[in-house]
Amino acid sequence: MDVHNVYLDRVVGRIDQLPTNELVEIAFAGKSNVGKSSLINTMINRKALARTSGQPGKTQTINFYNIEEKLYFVDLPGYGYAKVSKADRERWGKFIESYLKSSKQLKLIIQLIDIRHKPSELDKVMYNWIVYQGYTPLIVATKMDKINRSQVQKHVKVIKEELGLTSDSIIIPFSSQTKKGKDELWEHIDRCLEV
Ligand code: GDP
Repeated sequence: MDVHNVYLDRVVGRIDQLPTNELVEIAFAGKSNVGKSSLINTMINRKALARTSGQPGKTQTINFYNIEEKLYFVDLPGYGYAKVSKADRERWGKFIESYLKSSKQLKLIIQLIDIRHKPSELDKVMYNWIVYQGYTPLIVATKMDKINRSQVQKHVKVIKEELGLTSDSIIIPFSSQTKKGKDELWEHIDRCLEV
């Protein structure tokens, strides 16, 4: 999709504020600092519309970006903050779970994993939890410019093995710096709009 018009439509901090949207929703999940905001900004040709997890206010909200009045990018709060209390974690889980359960328009969840490292325990828990909620996450391996090109397939294989994916499943290596992977990811998203 050729993106020109995007805006942050809603910032939702509570279950009872979750919207009932008409447009297709595509959600993004990932550990804080994985490169989620950078990826969203890359996908929508913006420098800094999606806020990074370092910025206050971002932590516990679900942000809905309207893309060309055609779909929403749903930026789920990042997981894996060191300083989060158990109560906050539980609240976070309930909040996301109610979104995943209540959304009628959520067609795809994109889970981001840093290509440099083995998926963490938390990444695995998150992946399995999303599957348990009835979705098959599309995995995007971020920051691919940080490893040697010759190592990409090796790292992709490790991610597949650690998450228990079949060898033919799709993982998209992505770089917000070089924009590699952008077109391929848009192809997957565009496909969700066709059905
Ligand atoms: P978020 O917390 O998941 O939203 O992560 P951010 O998008 O804020 O990125 C965290 C850090 O990683 C920032 O310093 C980004 O500049 C950096 N970063 C994100 N994506 C890439 C990438 O594709 N390549 C490189 N080299 N750095 C990246």
